[in-house]
Amino acid sequence: MTATKKNIQLFVPTFRVDECLEEIRECLEKGWTGLGFKTLDLEERWKEYTGLPHAHYLNSATAGLRYAVKLLKQKHGWSDGDEIISTPITFVSTNHAILYEDMRVVFADVDHFGCLDPDSVEAAITPNTRAVMFVGLGGNTGQYDRIVQICRERGLQLILDAAHMAGTRLRGVTPGQEADAVVYSFQAVKNLPTADSGMVCFQDGDLDKLVRQLSWLGIDKDTFTRSQSGGVYKWYYDVPSLGFKDHGNSIMASMGLVQLRYLDQDNAYRRQLATWYEGALSGEVDFVPVAEGCESSRHLFQVRVPRRDEVLMALNGAGVFPGVHYRDNSEFTMYANQGKPCERARSFSDSVISLPMHLRLTRADVMFVCETLKQVLAVH
Ligand SMILES: *Cc1c(COP(=O)(O)O)cnc(C)c1O
Repeated sequence: MTATKKNIQLFVPTFRVDECLEEIRECLEKGWTGLGFKTLDLEERWKEYTGLPHAHYLNSATAGLRYAVKLLKQKHGWSDGDEIISTPITFVSTNHAILYEDMRVVFADVDHFGCLDPDSVEAAITPNTRAVMFVGLGGNTGQYDRIVQICRERGLQLILDAAHMAGTRLRGVTPGQEADAVVYSFQAVKNLPTADSGMVCFQDGDLDKLVRQLSWLGIDKDTFTRSQSGGVYKWYYDVPSLGFKDHGNSIMASMGLVQLRYLDQDNAYRRQLATWYEGALSGEVDFVPVAEGCESSRHLFQVRVPRRDEVLMALNGAGVFPGVHYRDNSEFTMYANQGKPCERARSFSDSVISLPMHLRLTRADVMFVCETLKQVLAVH
């Protein structure tokens, strides 16, 4: 063989290096790398971009999900052991957030989008159900509209884990306007990558105020506001509650600001890659569809294959390195006993592959992945 071996990875984040460094330079020159300055700027731009009423920048989406559960629990007076219906097909953060706050995770099954199935959600509701946690898998909105309707009808709170959904639109609008909390991840390999950070967007302005305090040790004013207040008695802040240290910083926010400028353009290229994949695989390989009316961020492009583990190993042998999103969380020791097994989730978990999806891929790369996959499937 003369050709060098392929090396096509699942995720390779792209950064506009000079623009990122320019934003970071402003922080370094100003001497302000922490909370405030760029974090406030990013929050303002995120609200403008999404149309959501509030946004607080944190060091991760995991923290955001935990605050969503904590503050909704506090506001509504939920008890320990009350239930939140969630999906077994997600990154463990989603479900850990529920357990951190001493609530119970009740799994409902997924649909053909790999998102929570509304009928299964309805069937899982008990007198102790307080909320639904919906994950837009890969940027897909799945049957989100019906989930919103169920939550309204049944008086349940709705948390949208939008870790994959930066830039997703549903009929032209950012989904989550109806949710009680929406949480985004800007982790290193998400479709809006920084290094580590996230955004929590509460519907209720009081909860937005609270999360600002709680993510900064419970202190009731942020550094920026205090320095603006004329310098009189700056040291007289109050600490009304036992907070944590989870707020975002200006270096990460600098990267986020640059990424946000390119988000729509980048997602359009992801959708182009997905269209190439679909064209090449159509009729031969099952792929996970995108819901009607959803303009997906296309964080993921997923296919479903028999004998997945063998297929994945064979792809690796050919220099293609896909991923699995996700293994059924009920297979993990932590989540082994969260109600009835979810059959469709189990079969999704056993068959799904996320094909390489990032901005450095070319049409030729996509074609190579598809041809390799088809060859592998023909012999496995
Ligand atoms: C990545 C991810 C998270 C956690 O995001 P972090 O910013 O890494 O904490 C939560 N939910 C889903 C679905 C994710 O993919």
